[in-house]
Amino acid sequence: MGCSRTCVYCFARRTHSCLDLDTGLGFDSQIVVKVNAPELLRRRLSSRSWQGEHIAMGTNVDCYQRAEGRYRLMPGILAALRDHANPFSILTKGTLILRDLPLLRQAAEVTDVGVSVSVGFTDETPWHAVEPGTPAPERRLDVVRALAGQGIGCGVLMAPVIPFLSDRPDQLRATVRAVAGAGATSVTPLVLHLRPGAREWFMSWLERHHPHLVARYARLYAEGAYAPKWYQRRITRQVHELAGEYGIGPARAGMPRRVRPAEVTDPAGPTGQPGAEPTQLTLL
Ligand code: SF4
Repeated sequence: MGCSRTCVYCFARRTHSCLDLDTGLGFDSQIVVKVNAPELLRRRLSSRSWQGEHIAMGTNVDCYQRAEGRYRLMPGILAALRDHANPFSILTKGTLILRDLPLLRQAAEVTDVGVSVSVGFTDETPWHAVEPGTPAPERRLDVVRALAGQGIGCGVLMAPVIPFLSDRPDQLRATVRAVAGAGATSVTPLVLHLRPGAREWFMSWLERHHPHLVARYARLYAEGAYAPKWYQRRITRQVHELAGEYGIGPARAGMPRRVRPAEVTDPAGPTGQPGAEPTQLTLL
């Protein structure tokens, strides 16, 4: 738990309070690592009660965050999943996933493996401002390219789309164009949501850096953690139209699309039809 990439909006901030830790700077600096995770997973996968359910990783904090470079837990986890042919998916902003490409390939030969990379925008201004500790968007798209080159289909979770900072039509277009150019199999937009923990931290950042937006945010998020449906629909429609234009399909609702290597024949991915309904994913 916790992540030193310090994304201002991080959806997972609230989970730090479960350990009585601070959801602001504490989340950014106090990283809690379960160092025996591979052994625990292997034991669980071997138990009679385990039914081989799909395991989604990276849906709270990033499993390829900086600490993974030191603790190297993912190779053991991927090896356990491969050995048990257990389906899984990974959502990450981390280029470190490329270290484990051989294991991902081995796993994809025996089970469903889904990988999604999170790229909310390619504009460097919001990148520097709100997710300064993450690999540059272009480096994350290199991950998509590398995975596609290895026959592992990779979708892009376009998250978060940040109202008034990364939602201009030209910004959406540039992002979807770059995602398509990287060979992503799907693109799924997700508008910023501000739950307790993330909300206070993000709003205090907004007051310091974009005080003129505070009142607009208060109106947009007046109902709670989510932007209104009309706004979500607008972003989803725009992204789906652009995805259709650039030849990328929308992902299924929920977690990243699962792709077996044999399905990946065209690096540009299948052409999808633009959808009209928004998909507000729940990551926590
Ligand atoms: S990389 Fe992911 S988990 Fe880490 S701070 Fe950013 S949004 Fe949160």
